[in-house]
Amino acid sequence: MARIERVEVFMVDLVPKVKRTDAIQSFTSQETPFVRIFADDGAVGTGYSYTIGTGGHAVVELLARNLAPKLIGRDPDQIEAIWKALFFHTHATAVGAITALALAAIDTALWDMRCRRSGKPLHIEAGGAQESVALYTTEGGWLHIETAALVDDALQAKAKGFGGSKLKVGRPPMDDAKRLEAVRNAVGDDFEIMVDGNQGAAVDEAIRRARLYEPFDLAWYEEPLPAEDLGGHIRLSASTSLPIAVGESIYSLQHFREYLQRDAASVVQVDVARIGGITPWLKVAHLAEAFNMAVCPHFLMELHVALTAAVPNGRWVEYIPQLDSLTTEGMRIVDGRAVPSSEPGLGIAWDWAAIDRQRVEGCTRIVT
Ligand code: MG
Repeated sequence: MARIERVEVFMVDLVPKVKRTDAIQSFTSQETPFVRIFADDGAVGTGYSYTIGTGGHAVVELLARNLAPKLIGRDPDQIEAIWKALFFHTHATAVGAITALALAAIDTALWDMRCRRSGKPLHIEAGGAQESVALYTTEGGWLHIETAALVDDALQAKAKGFGGSKLKVGRPPMDDAKRLEAVRNAVGDDFEIMVDGNQGAAVDEAIRRARLYEPFDLAWYEEPLPAEDLGGHIRLSASTSLPIAVGESIYSLQHFREYLQRDAASVVQVDVARIGGITPWLKVAHLAEAFNMAVCPHFLMELHVALTAAVPNGRWVEYIPQLDSLTTEGMRIVDGRAVPSSEPGLGIAWDWAAIDRQRVEGCTRIVT
């Protein structure tokens, strides 16, 4: 049995490729904490998570001071046992975003090592349900983009074979409705439009907005309300024909269970970093399957392509490239569909020289 003998923690800070704004925030930098786990038989696993600009240093410190030391001497194949032990070790700071992001960096590294040992790509090791997954784009739908450019981007996406485009909402409601109408008229009926409210509305406003958006046959209305407002989501879901999508701001399996059991949503957007890694991500995906719901994960397309292909209810991958400056090749797209890598591991072709050049100074920690 192999034992973990060394853990390296470091961080890279990435600048988004395009300006990204939504109803409540702009995405200024992508702090990317990394974990590399080294076993005594020579096996290595690489994992990562991300923030959209705050908290990265807290994640690194939690990893280096509290979590990585607990890995030394453990069998890296006992992924469930490790996840549970680390979760309970940080019990007073969990459930929470910082802890989940730290757990995810470790858990994805352990899965990477497992896949490399077995010689299988992640989408096979984690389930093996699909060869490719439909792709929609968010990169041309940010809130500051004017309507003509929104329409152009959606038309270009359709021409490239993408199955849909997501538009941010959060302008005055009638403005948003006019933007949706312009895009729907341009793309026709055979192209999906998603909208994303980024938790910007109160319940009364979300109910009114949903009614205004309904005529445009949307694939879903994402994060209409603050994620902690379960009751508001129940009321909204009961009042509209639009599918309500949640998940990018939900940090535990049990919170997803509450949403699904109480009819508060019908599209599940679990994010592998924010849920604490691949181990809980798969549980949420299978839970959604039991409720006959699709999984359409938030962001992190380079990792989610494999996970979405691993499960039978994986429906969409969200196109937002984020790792181009750290990899030697990007996610494969064939006929507008995302195709997971066939290489053993997470399927991300890391460019180690580029990563080393972009490390945030003072953030590298070696734990033995
Ligand atoms: Mg969103």
